[in-house]
Amino acid sequence: MKIISIETFTNEYVGFLCVRTDDGDEGWGQTSTYNADISAQVVHRQVAPHILGWEGDDIGDLNRVVLEREHKFPGTYLYRALSGLDTALWDIKAKRAGKSVCQLLGGNPASIPVYASSMRRDISPEAEAERLLSLKENYGYTAFKFRIGRECGHDQDQWPGRTEAIVKQVRETLGDSVALLVDANSAYTPAKAIEVGHMLQDYGICHFEEPCPYWKPGWTRQVRDALDIDISGGEQDNDMRVWKHMIDNQVVNILQPDVCYMGGVTRTLEVAELAQQAKLPVTLHSANLSLVTLFSAHIMGAIPNAGKYLEFSIEGLDYYPWQANIFSPDFEIAKGQLTMDHQPGWGIELNPEWLSQAQYQVSYTGSRF
Ligand SMILES: [Mg+2]
Repeated sequence: MKIISIETFTNEYVGFLCVRTDDGDEGWGQTSTYNADISAQVVHRQVAPHILGWEGDDIGDLNRVVLEREHKFPGTYLYRALSGLDTALWDIKAKRAGKSVCQLLGGNPASIPVYASSMRRDISPEAEAERLLSLKENYGYTAFKFRIGRECGHDQDQWPGRTEAIVKQVRETLGDSVALLVDANSAYTPAKAIEVGHMLQDYGICHFEEPCPYWKPGWTRQVRDALDIDISGGEQDNDMRVWKHMIDNQVVNILQPDVCYMGGVTRTLEVAELAQQAKLPVTLHSANLSLVTLFSAHIMGAIPNAGKYLEFSIEGLDYYPWQANIFSPDFEIAKGQLTMDHQPGWGIELNPEWLSQAQYQVSYTGSRF
């Protein structure tokens, strides 16, 4: 197959990419969320020129071509843009095989266990515990993640005492039968993270995410060494050298690549394979209800070292209005699990009305137009 056009449909928050081939294939993917309009520019300036007219079906080879031609630009936007292309090509590959991407990767689950993931720090411990309880009752979630400390917080809390209060409140309200996870988003020095970690252990928290600034793996390793609780991290990282260092030096217990920050499925699978060799679980980072959660479900449904739960954001349209009416079918949660229906490819349709209102750009070869 030969790639003949690349179209992007985007707004500031989220953007999609359509690849067409000379065989009549059509694949849909997504660049990473936020500043997605900038990622779309990168698609047309730094990705499309290298692959239009390219023939073959080795997606890894296409990734390599783009990254080598753009080797002076090893930053996040290139990978955010590449994610659109890579995920669109996996859509085509799976549709051609008549399988879902998950099935193509060797999985076939009817559902994937998820944890209900809060994104908010501007919420009181009482209000957070109350909404998590209502989600437990309505959707059967058995695992929940909430936020502690302050983002990149230099040991500060969002407001004094919030962390201690929310851990206690959520555990008491939800009871001992649920799994509780927390995310510090780079909040602490090692000494403070270890102090907080002991408190988390006292409340039976099972997962302590990004305790220290993520760019200080030595700090994170100190925290891992000092505590019994699982330490997790990696959501921002896209450089394979960083992943190798993190794995070789046992910085964390659980690895959390984000499919769209990584540049798509292909490179996420590379991290998963490295993790598998080191016998480490992978719990993908998927912090909103765009296609990143769908991509993550397909991958976690197939890899042998998937973590216990897929991250599933509980923030609705009141918090993220941009998530409205993007694609169908919508995510469906029952008994704390995300339903998988295994239609060919990613199994979704972008909403034509959403697409018609998005900023549109196309790059194409001369062969078709
Ligand atoms: Mg996180």
